[in-house]
Amino acid sequence: MSEIKCAFCKGTGKDSFDLLSALSICQVCGGTGKVEVKDPAIKCVFCGGTGVYPFNGRVTCTVCNGKGMVTVKSPTKECAKCKGTGAAKDSGLPCTKCGGKGVVHKA
Ligand SMILES: [Zn+2]
Ligand SMILES: [Zn+2]
Ligand SMILES: [Zn+2]
Repeated sequence: MSEIKCAFCKGTGKDSFDLLSALSICQVCGGTGKVEVKDPAIKCVFCGGTGVYPFNGRVTCTVCNGKGMVTVKSPTKECAKCKGTGAAKDSGLPCTKCGGKGVVHKA
């Protein structure tokens, strides 16, 4: 496990979108500003590591759950379906083959 800075609140522990109030705590890290990810983890390509769902900038990324990093099964290779972007063509939803990670397990 690695401890990383919470991407969704940028380590502040506060809800950066003021969804409830400016004083509310970040729902991803619970206010600590830090989250744990299982190794090996890579930057979430779907949200670009921001932890924010790219098509609705006020909710957490569904691929990394707001952490900005996702755990992968190594060794990995680029997902042929989304060409490593993590996004399904047209729909804007996470790629169904790699789950939005942009890489798949290299069997
Ligand atoms: Zn947070
Ligand atoms: Zn993400
Ligand atoms: Zn894919």
